[in-house]
Amino acid sequence: GTVLKVEDLKRHYPLTKGTVFRRRIGTVRAVDGVSFELDGGKTLGLVGESGCGKSTTVMEVMELAQPQSGRVSVNGIDTATLSASQRRALRTDIQIVFQDPAASLDPRMTVEELIGEPLTVHDVPAKEISRRVRRMLELVGLEPSYARRYPHEFSGGQRQRIGIARALVVEPKILVLDEPVSALDVSVQAGVINLLEDLKQQLGLSYLFVAHDLAVVHHIADDVAVMYLGRIIEYGDVD
Ligand code: ADP
Ligand code: ADP
Repeated sequence: GTVLKVEDLKRHYPLTKGTVFRRRIGTVRAVDGVSFELDGGKTLGLVGESGCGKSTTVMEVMELAQPQSGRVSVNGIDTATLSASQRRALRTDIQIVFQDPAASLDPRMTVEELIGEPLTVHDVPAKEISRRVRRMLELVGLEPSYARRYPHEFSGGQRQRIGIARALVVEPKILVLDEPVSALDVSVQAGVINLLEDLKQQLGLSYLFVAHDLAVVHHIADDVAVMYLGRIIEYGDVD
């Protein structure tokens, strides 16, 4: 069935001029009526050039709340209807991996702290966190001994694997992959893409894979939605 459904999503920003006396001179239609569906176990590519509204769409999805306009549903439930505690519970089901692990990973935290952090809010005992962090490292193809080291000691590809491990530690069902390989050297992109493919099979995940480049999602996506100026201009089977 459908695990994530976005219907007629809109997010408009006021366009202003001036710094002290801001005058409204128009509207930026960052997202202007976007609809798509992600089926369980599938990968949907959300593709479009910079500024077309991908990040805004992702932000609205991750809010798991009533968007400015339209509807976001997870597992058939309209997120606008959730209570605060239901929303908190649903937050573990959908996790995000960002483009730049260097920017999203706190350099003062060890790999163990970074990957284990999402578990600390769930009152998981320290020993169990430590065990699960090592299992996560193995899952993403990194050595368990890396747990005591810092993110800056690793290459871009390795740091992205740490970012993936952090997203997976709470055992989500849906991953939003926001340009997960765009900041990496072309030579390491394939390794991370292959890892994501393996993890999807192994863990039964569903992916919303955001990229500015169709070439990146071509091999991994089942369906692709192409965005342009806040709208979906093409949507269907990747071929
Ligand atoms: P993408 O992720 O595809 O690069 P974005 O969602 O970041 O696109 O941006 C879509 C459009 O919305 C762009 O024109 C951007 O300048 C505009 N935009 C994004 N965030 C804001 C904001 N907070 N205020 C005003 N305009 C914004
Ligand atoms: P980078 O080249 O930036 O280090 P890679 O994505 O190529 O990033 O690899 C990250 C680490 O994971 C490397 O240490 C590599 O040896 C290891 N690695 C890559 N693929 C696998 C795999 N399938 N199984 C186990 N370890 C792997």
